Amino acid sequence: MRTLITGGTRGIGAAVARRLAADGHDLVLGYASDDAAAEHTAQACRALGARCATVRADVTTDAGIDELFAASGELTGVVNNAGATLHIGPLADTPPDVVRATIELNLTSAVLVARAAVRAMGRSRGGAGGVLVNIGSGAATLGSPGEYVQYAAAKAGVDTLTVGLAHEVAGDGVRVVGVAPGIIDTTIHADAGEPGRVARVGPLVPLGRAGTPDEVAGAVAWLLSEEASYVTGTTVRVAGGR
Ligand code: NDP
Repeated sequence: MRTLITGGTRGIGAAVARRLAADGHDLVLGYASDDAAAEHTAQACRALGARCATVRADVTTDAGIDELFAASGELTGVVNNAGATLHIGPLADTPPDVVRATIELNLTSAVLVARAAVRAMGRSRGGAGGVLVNIGSGAATLGSPGEYVQYAAAKAGVDTLTVGLAHEVAGDGVRVVGVAPGIIDTTIHADAGEPGRVARVGPLVPLGRAGTPDEVAGAVAWLLSEEASYVTGTTVRVAGGR
């Protein structure tokens, strides 16, 4: 098993990396700019027995996606995880360039990474077959009014990508599945301008708290495994009931 995780060096992606390392995957971890986090996560994965490479490549560029997959070798799994909310506030107060950047990162890049993934893994193109896991968001169904409807709209597109692409490649040895996290305790919220978001939103979740990256990683690991061999074209919500 050899799995590429975009955004695999911090937050949810790093937890997925550690979990997959423990499960026996070899790993390629993509990231944008934080070299120290990349090295830290790679060391943790190696300590768990995995071969682990890191590739600094921006998935919002065609060259970055090409570089990532060229460096990955033969893959049996791709976790399409890189993303960010970028800004918190009503749409009317969100600058157009931020709206465009949000959709570019969370939808356009996700679709293009998915394209590269099925080209790399599809048996008709010489791949070994495998599993693509798209990381969506509970925002896709909530719509996230007042916070980031442009991000929610992009993530709804990711859920639709999962359904359509799963049907396209079902006969090519590739399963396509999604995981939609609810509020998870990572720095994504502080990076978008609200460090206290986990404390504010956590109590609104039916289970009474925010989730941890490890709780998302468990679902991703299961979907990548043979135990989920009859699961495709659907998205699992890991959102504490919200
Ligand atoms: P983090 O901000 O903790 O980590 C983001 C990761 O993505 C980092 O490794 C970062 O690299 C990488 N990344 C960001 N932009 C790019 C880019 N342009 N090219 C390549 N890599 C990039 O995010 P989370 O772990 O919180 O989120 C992971 C995914 O889960 C995202 O898709 C997010 O939308 C989704 N999600 C998160 C939720 C949450 O509450 N945390 C809830 C629902 C969904 P670097 O370190 O170099 O910046």
